[in-house]
Amino acid sequence: MSEYLILRHRAIPGLERLPVYLEHQGFAAFKKAVMELPPAQVIQMVKDSGLRGRGGAGFPTGLKWSFLPNDLWPHYVVANADESEPGTFKDREIMESNPFQFLEGLMIAAYAVQANVAYIYIRGEYWHIARWLDQKIAELEQAGLLGERLFGTDYSLRIYTHLGAGAYICGEETALLESLEGKLGQPRLRPPFPATAGLYNRPTVVNNVETLANVPLIVLNGPAWYHNYGTDKSPGTKVFSLSGCVNRPGNYELPFGVTFRELIFEHGGGVPEGRTLKAVMTAGASSVLIPMDESVLDTPMDYESLNKFGGSLGSASVIVLDDSVNMAWLTQKTVNFFKHESCGKCTPCREGTYWMNRLAERIVRGKAGLREVELLYQVARQMQGKCLCALGEFSTLAVVSSIDRFRADFEAVVTKEPIYG
Ligand code: NAD
Repeated sequence: MSEYLILRHRAIPGLERLPVYLEHQGFAAFKKAVMELPPAQVIQMVKDSGLRGRGGAGFPTGLKWSFLPNDLWPHYVVANADESEPGTFKDREIMESNPFQFLEGLMIAAYAVQANVAYIYIRGEYWHIARWLDQKIAELEQAGLLGERLFGTDYSLRIYTHLGAGAYICGEETALLESLEGKLGQPRLRPPFPATAGLYNRPTVVNNVETLANVPLIVLNGPAWYHNYGTDKSPGTKVFSLSGCVNRPGNYELPFGVTFRELIFEHGGGVPEGRTLKAVMTAGASSVLIPMDESVLDTPMDYESLNKFGGSLGSASVIVLDDSVNMAWLTQKTVNFFKHESCGKCTPCREGTYWMNRLAERIVRGKAGLREVELLYQVARQMQGKCLCALGEFSTLAVVSSIDRFRADFEAVVTKEPIYG
């Protein structure tokens, strides 16, 4: 794509510096919102744009903002920068290379819900980005773009960064809020959703970094303009993190509706020579395995089209798998990750991921038979619909879909060739 909405730094050198960002209409949207637009109108613009949450769930952003009750204060906005899904590395690039667009989006979100304090919760491994954003926030305060009584109005805003400690579960919004409050990062039961009972039990918007980075351009150019990109129900562009068995891995910003074929072959350069494409995961480890053949390659990638595979686009961390990959091996790697990251609060996830991991280990080590493959399948099926948060549910997706769709790989491992002999 020649036109970037989010990865604009690739077209504008130096965009991470405030003077350059200001030269390119930087903070014009925030100023316009604070000085000219009532908060409800900003929310309506984002609603009309059709912007949907880029963390993975695709929930309508403007609708989420509109849920905050106006009889309970203060309101908070929290940017979810705990990007931890295996294969997802888009928010990192945005924060490192186009930080002001993300910060401006966060500031507009705060204004729209009349929050005077916003937090950025960043995964522990991104500590250098937290320091980087602290510098950017200080620059904004010095420039009078952030702080008390902005542009001569009554509106004031402060932004604080907060580092996580390397727990995947803290990307789950309620575990994130617990952690931000200084407690053990474990999910809360939803409902109530953060929109009504979030940080310190107050109405809170939690939005992903990429979602927020879309907001300045929507406010500046209007919601109708945004519909020039993407599909009817999934407008805009998406940053796809492409990895795995592909010649040119990396982040690709493309309009929603781009096909697997375009992403993997045109942009990603296809699978390594001599190999054939076997399957794709679209939401990192939290994903079903989609077997790939000619009939599937032209499927558009948006929030709707992948439902027919029992999957979803998620955060668009597209992991490409070629015929060198045995899916029993992949399953074991995946459940091992979830077992390690399970927070232990609910029994189905704590026990289920533990037992799935033990079974998968025995399978790949050649210490199990088809009976254990069936048992692994049953454990995963039993967990579904019973976990406290999405992490537990997601841990079952690769297991069930790989045994359903690539049974021959498991049979080969248990009857002929164990992966770790
Ligand atoms: P969800 O569909 O339950 O919720 C999505 C958002 O909408 C949340 O903010 C939630 O509060 C809000 N919401 C939903 N219904 C609501 C209601 N009735 N009232 C008010 N607010 C409501 O999804 P989720 O469990 O928050 O997230 C799952 C997604 O996270 C998956 O798609 C997964 O791929 C993704 N994920 C991403 C990463 C990453 O690193 N980016 C890591 C793990 C998972």
